[in-house]
Amino acid sequence: MAECEENRDADGEAFPWHLGVYDAHCHPTDTMASIPSLPDMKARILTVMATRAQDQELVAQTADTYGIRSGSVDSTPDVWSGEERMVPCFGWHPWFSHQMFDDSDYDGQASLDAETKILHYQTVLAPRRERLSDEEREVFASLPDPRPFSQFLDQTRRYLEKYPFALVGEIGLDRSFRIREAWIPEHEHHRDGSLTPGGREGRKLSPYRVHIQHQKKLFKAQLHLAGEMQRAVSVHGVQAHGIVFETIQETWKGHERKVLSKRERKRQTETLLSNANVGNEDRQEGIRSPKPFPPRICLHSYSGNPDAFKQYLNPAIPAEIFASFSTAINLSEKQDSGAPSALEDLIRLVPDDRLLVESDLHIAGPRMDEHLEDMVRRLCRIKGWGLSEGIERLGENWKMFVFGAKR
Ligand SMILES: [Zn+2]
Repeated sequence: MAECEENRDADGEAFPWHLGVYDAHCHPTDTMASIPSLPDMKARILTVMATRAQDQELVAQTADTYGIRSGSVDSTPDVWSGEERMVPCFGWHPWFSHQMFDDSDYDGQASLDAETKILHYQTVLAPRRERLSDEEREVFASLPDPRPFSQFLDQTRRYLEKYPFALVGEIGLDRSFRIREAWIPEHEHHRDGSLTPGGREGRKLSPYRVHIQHQKKLFKAQLHLAGEMQRAVSVHGVQAHGIVFETIQETWKGHERKVLSKRERKRQTETLLSNANVGNEDRQEGIRSPKPFPPRICLHSYSGNPDAFKQYLNPAIPAEIFASFSTAINLSEKQDSGAPSALEDLIRLVPDDRLLVESDLHIAGPRMDEHLEDMVRRLCRIKGWGLSEGIERLGENWKMFVFGAKR
């Protein structure tokens, strides 16, 4: 362990939390009892994701008490009061995508009757069966009543309007997961009452996956919503890095940036300078007006290999792409990119101004702080940054991700 550790050991330098450490992706509303500990945390602001039916309103309630009430790229940690601790994010995670149906496939129906519900699950779950056994019918009937996409998107739009700093997340695609079976009523008392319902907990794994095309429809609809509302998104991608990129790319088709030659850039700067006082509002309007793609995208706990990440470095991409890393996922044994050196190569490849840190933990408090400190130290070492320098850079990156460039 090079620089960061040495700093601490040699100088006895404590971790400079006061510079502001920001968690770019976490789920503390999975453990609501941990929420009152937010003001006691060392991390300054948490970016809190919603994932499913049960946590959207919990994230909103947490924002009512602990949400930030101001913010821009220039904000320093002390502009926020001790109670301003989080940024709410609203979105539907791919693990729960089967619990939603595309109402445009069902004549705009707001709910499905018992038979149609079974048909829905038969359609969106893989392996897809032509004929269902009685047992399979029973399993599908026991799954949650699916809700229409359009209703969820309307609800999310209302949350985004109500919380002007809210982002869209967690959304994405996942080829590795299997859905959990419903709790059998006799077993329900085994569940851990301190956890927000609807999560995976220890429920039995079913043999079913969710068809990637179904996941993609929901992912894309949420990307469009983020573009319409000009909010950043936090994206989950597991064993689906190619199709995550393709899906995002489809949203900005026709909006690619023209990559200018040196001479063209010079000419453009001259024009901008000569127009400095005219059309200023128009240009600003252009920045914030609705688009079909999100302005900023964070690939959270990014687990693709360096080559897959390189596609995001194309200068024609009209969105700003960030990548965040967590001890919980990126340093777990299961991560896709294999050896730790692959992770280091990847982190070196992420531009210095697009790197973020996250915990991805389901409980707020000291462990979340420890995870953040661990990953910040690693990022500093890999990037060759001093600890204070690294924390400041990561903080600036987080503000750029959440608030975007100055309006
Ligand atoms: Zn997550």
